[in-house]
Amino acid sequence: MSELILKNCRIAADVEGRGWDVAVDGGLIGAVGEGGTVAGDVRDCDGLTLYPGFIDVHNHGAVGVDVNEADVDGLIDVAKFLASQGVTAWLPTLVPDSDEIYRRVIDAIDRLMETQVDMPIAQAVGVHYEGVFANEKMCGALRPQYFRSFVDGVRNLAIKEDAVTTKSTENTERSEVTKSHEYALIDLGLPTLKAGVHMTTFAPEVENGVDLAAELIRQGWIASIGHTRADVATLDAAAAAGARHVTHFFNAMTGIHHRDVGVAGWALTNHEVTFDIIADGIHVHPRMIEMACRTKTPEKALLISDSVAPTGLGDGEFKLWGETVIVENKRTRNERGSIAGSVISMFDAVNGVRSIGFSPAEVAKMASANPARLIGDDSRGAIEAGRRADIVAVNAEGSIEFVMIGGKLVE
Ligand SMILES: [Zn+2]
Repeated sequence: MSELILKNCRIAADVEGRGWDVAVDGGLIGAVGEGGTVAGDVRDCDGLTLYPGFIDVHNHGAVGVDVNEADVDGLIDVAKFLASQGVTAWLPTLVPDSDEIYRRVIDAIDRLMETQVDMPIAQAVGVHYEGVFANEKMCGALRPQYFRSFVDGVRNLAIKEDAVTTKSTENTERSEVTKSHEYALIDLGLPTLKAGVHMTTFAPEVENGVDLAAELIRQGWIASIGHTRADVATLDAAAAAGARHVTHFFNAMTGIHHRDVGVAGWALTNHEVTFDIIADGIHVHPRMIEMACRTKTPEKALLISDSVAPTGLGDGEFKLWGETVIVENKRTRNERGSIAGSVISMFDAVNGVRSIGFSPAEVAKMASANPARLIGDDSRGAIEAGRRADIVAVNAEGSIEFVMIGGKLVE
């Protein structure tokens, strides 16, 4: 007998729109079947469409809390808000800052990850450092005074030379020198969590940028290309080194021209590469979201919020990252005239792409399955037996009816 049966619901991934019964047991999804006699408490879900919980890999905060400045309680406040918007997992995202701030926030995220487990709040699953290895000319709202270069990239490689003695067929001995690279893990200068996903957005054209990509991959990081104006050869080299994701597609990168591919043109035409996009209709025009996500296909496009602290507080004037940020009609603007992140939720992004014409099945991939794949998490990303019971139920009016995280209802 299951703890709970979500009865007669639609599942976003099922294009035929049949009625399903979804069992929830021990925080996981149990059997998923087309009706029947499974026993348990029943919740009637007629008219509801179940999405797998949204996963936001780029989120700087909400409800007045900036991740860079946050303590554990602040992060919990953000995670509660995110949960109310259907986000069940997220990467707290840091903008470039001092070592001291970085160490303090990493400590706070570590403690959050220890305390959040049984709470029905969006689960932090790691950290995303946006920058610090970015191109100053494409900084957007990031503060270039905190940018760094990867100078240690080459210097720390110790090359070990071994003399190997071999005998040739004529039985004469000769010595050969073989070179092997003795890699010590290179200190990236970014504090790491005790456990979880580490992602960084970097520009491959910075000094030693391709070596940086290789080193990030070697250390198990997700290396995402962004805040960049790299040329195609550099981008290809970075992708060959393992950097196969692109951050907030179209924003803070060179665009498409028919004689100049740009980072955007490269990302669209390199089939190994996935990208994420801010679907607020402000960072990218809805038609360009449609063009980009159709071309890349919903298999390889991800939605992010890139939301900042004022999210959820309405219009007004806020202090953010050492500057005044004005929020007006869901648009942010800092003193330099740059857009300073978004004030949307993942659910707004989901509705944004739904209104452009992407189907629930496509949107479920873009908001959940694809981010789960990016972060290498097969416990999330689908409504299937054995996955975490992270569920967003959307009603016929297009509003969230309920959110479940690890089988617990979000209040
Ligand atoms: Zn950002």
